Amino acid sequence: MSGKKGYIFVVHKHKGRVLHYDLRLEIGGTLKSWAIPKGPSINPKNKRLAVLTADHALDYAEFEGYIEEGSYGAGPVIIWDRGSVVYDGDPVKSFKQKKINFKLSGEKLRGLFTLFELKNSPDNWLLIKKADEFAESWGQELIDLKPQSVVSNLTIEEIEKLYKEGKIQPYRCK
Ligand code: MN
Repeated sequence: MSGKKGYIFVVHKHKGRVLHYDLRLEIGGTLKSWAIPKGPSINPKNKRLAVLTADHALDYAEFEGYIEEGSYGAGPVIIWDRGSVVYDGDPVKSFKQKKINFKLSGEKLRGLFTLFELKNSPDNWLLIKKADEFAESWGQELIDLKPQSVVSNLTIEEIEKLYKEGKIQPYRCK
């Protein structure tokens, strides 16, 4: 792997209209974002659909809580994983070419991944774990084994409950 170190990534687990995971990678000074309906997998046999969504500001990587009712994506969000990402080559160029190879050093996700856009299917990308020492082709998925936030240790259900009890204030999207 070549390239500058020190970029950030986050995976939000988000229960909007439907439950999904948002992979956000720091590229070109912003968080490029993909919604992954089934969540990331560390099994190289699993190709996960990752739909390109809106960019988010870098500081959104810190967000965990409840997006206010009436806003886009209203519902609970946890920081399911976060850490640093190292790209193979220039990530801005890779993004434009719609194929990004990267190595994650998160608390849950580690090692090499590839993310690329499907031919003739704009904004539909696939996220695939590469075979390395962090890949696992058997057993339970990490999203099931480790459902909690890496920041608060709360589950998305617990965030939702705290919101409904009035113990956390909703977040207003800018
Ligand atoms: Mn989302």
